[in-house]
Amino acid sequence: MKRILFASHNDHKVAEIRLMLPQGFSLLSLRDINWTTDIPEPFETYEENAIAKAQLLFNQTGLSCFADDSGLEVEALDGRPGVFSARYAGIERDSQNNIKKLLSELSDVPDRKASFHSVIAYVDDISGIHIFKGKVDGIITKKQFGNGGFGYDPVFIPEGFHQTFGELSELVKNRISHRAIAMKKLVSFLQFLNK
Ligand code: IMP
Repeated sequence: MKRILFASHNDHKVAEIRLMLPQGFSLLSLRDINWTTDIPEPFETYEENAIAKAQLLFNQTGLSCFADDSGLEVEALDGRPGVFSARYAGIERDSQNNIKKLLSELSDVPDRKASFHSVIAYVDDISGIHIFKGKVDGIITKKQFGNGGFGYDPVFIPEGFHQTFGELSELVKNRISHRAIAMKKLVSFLQFLNK
């Protein structure tokens, strides 16, 4: 069994990722290793933040490690909130406040196009750093629907669907999401390394 550490304090992300790892791999969370210290995300790109998070935990633990940095990009807001999605309405990282701010900024805006982005950085002692990316297009609703998922899920309808990520089952979200797409690439890479 290959053990891999996922460097995130976000329990929702941990739960999603856990369902995406195939047999033969066991996911360690920060909780599993009793890591309670905050992990800084000081950069303005997903890639730099993802690398910083994975590298920090790899350096501290020596375990094969990966991290996801992700965000929502809204076309009419020139890509905002993007890499600052978690802190859009303030440092408390409150999802409800973030959604309220987003819906109010878009209240008179007919163009509702948006996309979720995930960048995963993987680090181990032999293969170095590798990056895997995923993106899902969709639209922002005018109000919230559903209470599944996390973050902006209740206001994002992925292309080809009629319900938000907050209404769709976790099975569907975990098949089509930005994180699922990036994770599929990471899993192929891990399976190649393990051959
Ligand atoms: P970070 O990767 O820790 O910087 O946080 C990413 C932020 O982007 C989250 O706190 C959410 O606000 C948002 N986000 C990323 N992925 C998702 C998702 O799958 N659903 C809803 N919101 C997401």
